[in-house]
Amino acid sequence: MTTTTTIENFPGFPNGVDGTELMMKLREQAVNVGADVRSGFVKSIDLSQRPFVATLDGGEAIEADTVIVATGASAKYLGLADEKKYAGQGVSACATCDGFFYRKKVVAVVGGGDTACEEAHYLSNLASKVYMIVRKDYLRASAAMQQRVMEKDNIEILFNTNTLGLFGENGVEGAHLIKYKGTDKEETLDIAIDGFFLAIGHQPNTAFLGGQLALDDQGYIVTDKVTTATSVEGVFAAGDVADPRYRQAVAAAGTGCRAALDVEKFLAAQ
Ligand code: NDP
Repeated sequence: MTTTTTIENFPGFPNGVDGTELMMKLREQAVNVGADVRSGFVKSIDLSQRPFVATLDGGEAIEADTVIVATGASAKYLGLADEKKYAGQGVSACATCDGFFYRKKVVAVVGGGDTACEEAHYLSNLASKVYMIVRKDYLRASAAMQQRVMEKDNIEILFNTNTLGLFGENGVEGAHLIKYKGTDKEETLDIAIDGFFLAIGHQPNTAFLGGQLALDDQGYIVTDKVTTATSVEGVFAAGDVADPRYRQAVAAAGTGCRAALDVEKFLAAQ
């Protein structure tokens, strides 16, 4: 949330809310009702017996009778230096969060899966033109999603195309692209764009769990159908780390509430 700018779709903020400001408020609210907030990276966690023990990077060990894993999922980036250079200045990995800033502008979406098609479609209703930069000669997305993209006049798909870099004085003004990389048809081209959206998948942040919780084939934590319970009794999951589908702050906050209620019930039963 702190890596985006304004969040437009969190309930209760009719004019949107700054991501960092919202996080500060959520933290303050948690502290006001008694949360003990510690900062640190969890290097490892032992879920083999209760109490569970989480070890932080500074060496501190925290014991707990229950754990809610809410470590989120990180958008994948291409790994270009320019993605960092223009972070918050035209580079984004969330069309729903940042699309609003590109009304009547030209944007590019990287990727050919369902996310990329969904984001391109969403942006096409705001931006004047949307390029899709697809490295293969086909879209991986479902037929229905492809159809939605094909029906939009202002979406242009650049197949067999990779991104070499971005350029611009004060923010993104364009992208350097390469077509048919590594073949005799190879050619480079530049496109003028105001926004560059990554939609090449997400990586749930579960490495620190060391395989102790059941994950799905994409690496998301598997929870019970009705509750937020995971495969280990006493461990619950909330937010994007267990949500391959919606990935919105409001949905994450909702599962956070459910996980807290599940924890309360679990502890009461012990
Ligand atoms: P996917 O893994 O399905 O697609 C990723 C896309 O990004 C592919 O086109 C892939 O290309 C491309 N890509 C990956 N790495 C690079 C790279 N380094 N450079 C250029 N392109 C790259 O991820 P999604 O996030 O789209 O979807 C994840 C899952 O969520 C899927 O199961 C999807 O069906 C589901 N989903 C469903 C939705 C819905 O039903 N409404 C909406 C969104 C997601 P390539 O094909 O060449 O590998």
